[in-house]
Amino acid sequence: LRSELGHAERLSLVGQMAASITHEIRNPMAVVRGFMQLMREKSPSSLDHYYKIVLEELDRANGIISDFLSLAQNRIVEKEECHLHDIIHDLSPLLWADANLRGQSIELKLSEHVPDMQLNSKEIKQLLLNLSRNAMEAMEDRGVLTIETIAAADNVELRVSDTGPGIPKPVQDKLFEPFYTTKAKGTGLGLALCISIAERHNGTIVVDSEEGRGTTFAVVFKNAPHG
Ligand code: ADP
Ligand code: MG
Repeated sequence: LRSELGHAERLSLVGQMAASITHEIRNPMAVVRGFMQLMREKSPSSLDHYYKIVLEELDRANGIISDFLSLAQNRIVEKEECHLHDIIHDLSPLLWADANLRGQSIELKLSEHVPDMQLNSKEIKQLLLNLSRNAMEAMEDRGVLTIETIAAADNVELRVSDTGPGIPKPVQDKLFEPFYTTKAKGTGLGLALCISIAERHNGTIVVDSEEGRGTTFAVVFKNAPHG
């Protein structure tokens, strides 16, 4: 069978298998989660801590499955004319809540010249969330997350910067590989997903990092002239 299939066909077969397997895993997981919540309500509060962990880990596993699915499918996504800043503003409350819990803050520096672009807002939200989460996870309290937009003649940049420890040069080459992580509870899928989302939007991601000072991930959307 293998020899009869071209590269693209094999890829889409992997995508289809990933989709059906994740579907088959998600259903029983949803049932487990539902009953787990019922059991939590009927159990003594001394067990609450364990239920909390079980539920969190189920959600984490679900998140990994979602990320893996979006990676394996590399599907064609629907885009519509929308504004990057609307997406940033939509996500802001969530990011602020996260930053507050960590004692960190967020700065927005949004260019007035960013035009409407062809975007899949759900994907761009995911991209911004992944980059921002990484930034926050890299910083101590009092760290500052900066989200910046820059409009040039033929591209638009979305920059996510942190005041964290920076990334050593040899590590910078591995960041985007699926499953590369330096975190105990990391999946290593966040940045791999970011790259594929950027590519689906005719964009690239550039890392600029200085040890001890911080890191900037710049998503460059090409061919987005402002008018
Ligand atoms: P995960 O967050 O699950 O580890 P990612 O693909 O999102 O997976 O990131 C891969 C690795 O890249 C991280 O484990 C971390 O070592 C590194 N990294 C990503 N963003 C930053 C950042 N802003 N500062 C320092 N290291 C980072
Ligand atoms: Mg991550």
